[in-house]
Amino acid sequence: MEYDVIVVGAGPAGATAARECASRGLKVLLLDKARFPRDKPCGGGVNVRTARLMPFDLSPVVERTVRQVEFRALSGRSFVKSSDDPLCYMTQRHRLDAFLLNKATQAGAHLVERFQARSLERGRDRVAIKADGAGFRGRVLVIADGVNGTTATLAGIKVEHQIGAALEINLPLGTADRPRSAHRLVIFALRIKGGYGWLFPRADHINVGVCGWKTAGPQLRFTLREILHGLGRNETEGWGCQGYRLPVRRPDGPLVDGNAVLVGDAAGMVEPFSGDGIYGAVWSGKAAALAISEFFYGTEPDLNGYARAVAAELGASNAFSQQLHDLAQFSPDQFLLLVEKAPRVWRAIRRVMRGDESFIEIRRRHETWGLITDLVSDGIRVWPMLARRAGIPDPLPPVRFWKGRWAKRSSVATGGN
Ligand SMILES: Cc1cc2nc3c(=O)[nH]c(=O)nc-3n(C[C@H](O)[C@H](O)[C@H](O)COP(=O)(O)OP(=O)(O)OC[C@H]3O[C@@H](n4cnc5c(N)ncnc54)[C@H](O)[C@@H]3O)c2cc1C
Repeated sequence: MEYDVIVVGAGPAGATAARECASRGLKVLLLDKARFPRDKPCGGGVNVRTARLMPFDLSPVVERTVRQVEFRALSGRSFVKSSDDPLCYMTQRHRLDAFLLNKATQAGAHLVERFQARSLERGRDRVAIKADGAGFRGRVLVIADGVNGTTATLAGIKVEHQIGAALEINLPLGTADRPRSAHRLVIFALRIKGGYGWLFPRADHINVGVCGWKTAGPQLRFTLREILHGLGRNETEGWGCQGYRLPVRRPDGPLVDGNAVLVGDAAGMVEPFSGDGIYGAVWSGKAAALAISEFFYGTEPDLNGYARAVAAELGASNAFSQQLHDLAQFSPDQFLLLVEKAPRVWRAIRRVMRGDESFIEIRRRHETWGLITDLVSDGIRVWPMLARRAGIPDPLPPVRFWKGRWAKRSSVATGGN
């Protein structure tokens, strides 16, 4: 049988792309090397903004609803910020992913599990994918096989992201966790660069983790132990201690290559400031499916609408989120002081978590603050000493202020657009 769309990887990105394509009447094959339900190292925090992207209720897999965030500074000080409305839902990935997958198959996607491609051939509008003993053909390929996937390489697409690393562990609920576990998550500022620590409440346990740039990888275990120690807990009480990678897209990273599109972690859709990757996975799965259906129904000549959508929305938002990340990393405690003392900052974080506004919409609404952020973040990236202090291992060029402003001015001067 020949499919319209072959989706490789059935995590949130692949399941969403498959569901959205199938519900638009396309013939969809969804392949995954695992057998579901399967787990994936993840805090399982699904912000309300992510849940709002889905046309169904997530409550069957929600274990906790978070309305409070406790921030802990390097100095040891901590404070709590609250919201009347839910901010984030807590789940476990083996439950969430099986649920999303079920929605995809209900919409008509055909699922094949335990399929890991050994070879892949592509033409202008055909793709043939083979594993030991099985092979499938289709017209469009969606690469959704996560940060460690090999499908892009098989398809001849070179992918290079900025890589972060994370380590997590599950612990039984302790006495101190019970009162807060119902609706509060905890964020820890860390001495290691590029990330933060977290404590996420689940129904009958807590998930504690740390993340940072991949250069911080060797320090993660030590830092996780320090956090556990601070909580009066230790590693031997826990289970499921595992590390994994977090991919952040470079501005020029591939999204569309002929008849193939990349979504989710495979495209580096993790949002730099929060490390939230499920939002980018679901958002990109939906955006890719829209571009694919427009291509199939003849309203677009190719799949490039997906790359344009990413550049205009998610990519632009993540670029501002990356700048905020630089600032927060440069001076974590001062950044937290702003969160604590400036009501606007907490309001903005709340609005982003709830999906009332995206980072880029907030940036546009506060032009002056946006320009200051551009200047400071560019400064951090231009001066190696500052970049080192912010722990940026692999600085991107400071395109936002200099190039962005310069390009704007020269396009006005030349009458271009
Ligand atoms: C420790 C940790 C904590 C995190 N916590 C959060 C959080 O709380 N909230 C949040 O929003 N994000 C979090 N993230 C990020 C989030 O987990 C990812 O961004 C998200 O899972 C990306 O979804 P995806 O569908 O792109 O990829 P994945 O979820 O990785 O799914 C990829 C799928 O592809 C399959 N696959 C891989 N290779 C092949 C192959 N060759 N052939 C066929 N199938 C293949 C895999 O089996 C898998 O099912 C966390 C990440 C880490 C590492």
